[in-house]
Amino acid sequence: MPEGHSIHRLASQLSSVFGGQQVAASSPQGRFAAGAAGLDGRVLVGATAHGKQLFVEFADGLDESPTPALFLRVHLGLYGAWSFGGDKSFMGASSIGAPRKVGERELAGTPDASYDGPPAPVGAVRLRLVSDYGWADLRGPTACEVITEPERDAVVARLGPDPLGRAARDAPDDVARFASGLRKSASPVGLLLMNQAVIAGVGNIYRAEALFRRKLDPWRPGKSVSVEEATVLWEDIAVIMGDGVRAGRIVTTTPADRSSSSSRVKREDAHYVYGRAGLPCRLCGTPVAVAEMAARKLFWCPECQAP
Ligand SMILES: [Zn+2]
Repeated sequence: MPEGHSIHRLASQLSSVFGGQQVAASSPQGRFAAGAAGLDGRVLVGATAHGKQLFVEFADGLDESPTPALFLRVHLGLYGAWSFGGDKSFMGASSIGAPRKVGERELAGTPDASYDGPPAPVGAVRLRLVSDYGWADLRGPTACEVITEPERDAVVARLGPDPLGRAARDAPDDVARFASGLRKSASPVGLLLMNQAVIAGVGNIYRAEALFRRKLDPWRPGKSVSVEEATVLWEDIAVIMGDGVRAGRIVTTTPADRSSSSSRVKREDAHYVYGRAGLPCRLCGTPVAVAEMAARKLFWCPECQAP
């Protein structure tokens, strides 16, 4: 499942290529026909992310009288993905490159010199957005609905703070909310990091990597974590997820801890513990452990992260 950094990249991408433009919306698959009809002909104002939730704001069409904004809410879940295509101005507009598929993997797209409209839909396209310059197709999301601004606010209010939302110095409340969410629970901190009501956007990879980097035992009860430890953990998560937003991939290792010094970080060098069960810990050589925690695989170093 894409973690929060992918959804933030996606929001930037949608804002960059569609922002301020009138779009045609349709549901080639048919399952989102009514929702798409409500968006069709409106202006896509921009997109934002909170954790793994994506919100795309739509205002009135160019020649309509003012009505309240509508928001498209999308949660990709395990199988959802967006793909993009278009002309040179569309594919060149984004500061983050133009991924043609953002989901579990992100692939670079190339502008189509002879672009003259979107291709025939392939597969089950839940939603297609088309501007004068390009198109985006959404397939397989867990959630895709049109909601009002108060409904958007209610969804966000149910989520924990997003470490990618604001710089830590601007969001002391977010850090305090995260610390209090951890410290009021007896559940293991490894489980709490995956709870979107405690912290929004962290998935299985960032969970394992952040706990390793902070030398925290994943099985420690949340209530035993000090405010100071929670603050440092929050700040570290913000750093590594911020790197993920910029790079479009998750790399949590520092150069000194990699086996190769090549400038492009190799896949096998990207993580400390995630996906490395049985391999020696980069810091102490102890085999990395793996266990099931709430039906997801948890990786950690029993020595570096000793209770
Ligand atoms: Zn270790």
